[in-house]
Amino acid sequence: MLRRTKIIATLGPSTDDPKMLDKIIQAGVDVVRLNFSHETPKVHQQRLEAVRKCANAYGCPIGVIVDLQGPKIRIEGFSQGKIILNEGDQFVLDATCPSDAGNQQCVGITYKQLPKDVQSGDTLLLDDGRIVLKVKQVGDTQISCKVIVGGKLSNHKGINREGGGLSADALTHKDRADIATAAAMQVDYLAVSFPRSAEDIHEARELLQAAGGKAGIIAKIERAEALDKHEEIIKASDAIMVARGDLGVEIGDAHLPLAQKRLIKKARDLNTVVITATQMMESMIENPIPTRAEVSDVANAVFDGTDAVMLSGETAAGQYPDKAVIAMDRVCCEAEKDPMVRKSHHRLEHQFGRIDEAVAMASMYAANHLNISAIVAHTESGSTPLWMSRINSGIPIFALSRHASTRSKVTLYRGVYPVEIDELYNMNSLQANQVMINELLERAAISEGDLVIITKGDLKGISGGTNLMKIVCVGNLK
Ligand code: PGA
Ligand code: MN
Repeated sequence: MLRRTKIIATLGPSTDDPKMLDKIIQAGVDVVRLNFSHETPKVHQQRLEAVRKCANAYGCPIGVIVDLQGPKIRIEGFSQGKIILNEGDQFVLDATCPSDAGNQQCVGITYKQLPKDVQSGDTLLLDDGRIVLKVKQVGDTQISCKVIVGGKLSNHKGINREGGGLSADALTHKDRADIATAAAMQVDYLAVSFPRSAEDIHEARELLQAAGGKAGIIAKIERAEALDKHEEIIKASDAIMVARGDLGVEIGDAHLPLAQKRLIKKARDLNTVVITATQMMESMIENPIPTRAEVSDVANAVFDGTDAVMLSGETAAGQYPDKAVIAMDRVCCEAEKDPMVRKSHHRLEHQFGRIDEAVAMASMYAANHLNISAIVAHTESGSTPLWMSRINSGIPIFALSRHASTRSKVTLYRGVYPVEIDELYNMNSLQANQVMINELLERAAISEGDLVIITKGDLKGISGGTNLMKIVCVGNLK
């Protein structure tokens, strides 16, 4: 059985060994994430080249995401590298403190405007919520706090405010430069960190396109404000990421599970792709097997309908990147056997806006109610397989495209598998169908006697032109 849920692996020092990269790709990674919060563009470029080499060797496209750092607010450094805070201590976040001069009393902050954004009584969460500070007094440059939950605090840890509402712009100077780098690298997706509104997504898209990039935009939902405005953000984006690390800190961890379910459902309803991310197999950074809770978390994301599950530190900096991918693959495949995730109640009440969308929906309805073995979508832009993949089903959707960019974009869509196909436009319809079927027969994806649905357009090479659905029997196409 082909796994439908896609696996994203974040690259890092642990996957730099070519043997390890090869292992995780063999284990089933569909998409890689280059995390621009760390390292230089040069390092990311080298990683990209290594991935492309591997993908070429196996003849399977691997999608690539550039993930921008965004305005993550951090403390600066300590002269000793770290301190221990105890409950009840006074501690000052000080915009004037030099970057490496933090001590037991105070530390610098990367966002110098922070004192303007906070008030006494606010709760600040450091290091993903491990340290909790209550704001007592705010001056022009200093925020005086009392430690509510103490612990070790080391250099450059993140700062969030409970409830969100920090005003830092979504796109920093560094992000703007990194967008140009992503455009030049011709990656498939650009992930925007900490967007507040649809406006931030439009701006990122304009900058990317001005730099010649064609990547899809992923909005990371990781601010409380973004959750409030999730509908407009989803509509502005090609995909969203349920970025549970920062989101959990801002809205409180207990609110996360429901937020995840709602975001996934809304994204699917609005024909948008959705990624579930962060701490999915966190304990595998240090252990070769996941916890029961992690297994459940990954399976639940599959039941919720996510397109993809993401590994962060597990692959980037963990001890067992390959084992983490193998575990995810195993858990997703098992979860997908549940008949509930194959059954569709999608948009039964809706009107469709376009002919190609209606053909995609009709195909899925037929596929789910007839004994169909595979769907073959001949596609220019990938829209038809995207619509198809919004419908719960157990039937594989093969996206046949002559465009390499389309083939690597669909690597993120649940249940969609890219297949390379040559130009079909100088053939008649029967010949074209035969070429497509042969391509799948060669891959042993279908066999003689199978019923297959083919969708395509009768306009040549026009994106959005799908207007035909045909059900054929393999071995007897006429
Ligand atoms: P990050 O984003 O890994 O870039 O922080 C994901 C998250 O916040 O969950
Ligand atoms: Mn984040």
